[in-house]
Amino acid sequence: MLVVMQHGATQAEVSRVVETIEELGYQARPMPGAQRTAVGLVGNDGRVDASRLAALPGVKEIIHVTQPYKQVSREWKNEPTIIRLPGGLEIGGDAVVVMAGPCSVESEEQILESARLVRDAGAAILRGGAFKPRSSPYTFQGLGLEGLKLLAKARDETGLLVVTEAMDSEGVDLVAEYADIIQIGARNMQNFSLLKHAGRAGKPVLLKRGPAATITELLLSAEYLLAEGNHDVILCERGIRGFDTATRNVFDLTTVPLVHELSHLPIIADPSHGTGRRDKVIPMARAAVAAGADGIMVEVHPHPDRALSDGAQSLYPEQFATLVQETTEIAKAIGRTISVPVPRAVRA
Ligand code: PEP
Ligand code: MN
Repeated sequence: MLVVMQHGATQAEVSRVVETIEELGYQARPMPGAQRTAVGLVGNDGRVDASRLAALPGVKEIIHVTQPYKQVSREWKNEPTIIRLPGGLEIGGDAVVVMAGPCSVESEEQILESARLVRDAGAAILRGGAFKPRSSPYTFQGLGLEGLKLLAKARDETGLLVVTEAMDSEGVDLVAEYADIIQIGARNMQNFSLLKHAGRAGKPVLLKRGPAATITELLLSAEYLLAEGNHDVILCERGIRGFDTATRNVFDLTTVPLVHELSHLPIIADPSHGTGRRDKVIPMARAAVAAGADGIMVEVHPHPDRALSDGAQSLYPEQFATLVQETTEIAKAIGRTISVPVPRAVRA
């Protein structure tokens, strides 16, 4: 539920609304805005006596949020959320942010080479898994903490920001220490205790859609993060499980405009996991930008044939350069730009 204040309502009137919500046993979230000040009521179980709030001085109207997710919804907040990252990079604004790098961090040489090449081609954020969710326990599981340290080294050397996955609470704390964005992978989208932990970690979170999750479930998982006080959440479409094995997943790009309609949060797309096939990544990256994605996440490897994971969907360096050039043209056609890397010298 949202209590919308009249234009010009006083601070005392807003405070009175907050106190009344707390007296009723709920949490209040005041939201001063350019157009209006509203106070959100969190934990609404349907039994709130709205008339008590509607009668308070300075209150214009009460809006009932109809969706099961609340703080994530457009009803709750209409203006798009813009995530502000170190060095001034933004996600959710006019610029489409390119995140690229190998599936896994494999060695110092491999991640540094990857970082340089994706930066030179136009990426702003380096990706690379240190903790890998693998279907088989006998495949490469990632370098763990050592991988995080290598990512931090690549960040220092290139000025790229870093996004990397955390698979458990301990991993969240480590990733929050070394990276700029904590990735919650598709397999963990509904790991609710992990989401609660990530919501308290103090860093932006990239939440990937589960392979069998509905859009409502994706947004409800994001709600867990916002409910813990973390509003810097980026959603990611990475394909869902379908019946056809021709591609690794069904890359559901309708999610992009749908999420923009239902939520104020930014949404990016991952055509690498979405297709699983290197030769389909460029066309689907173009499609993702055309659909309005706020960013793309792409797997690139200096030597894809030697990759320890996801080599078949990893782009060759020159393919990635083509991808950035082509998506730049598409972004331009819809009034957007592609984010540029942030020189380390201008970092805060
Ligand atoms: C990844 O981005 O490295 C990854 C494992 O992706 P997903 O969680 O979407 O499978
Ligand atoms: Mn991968």
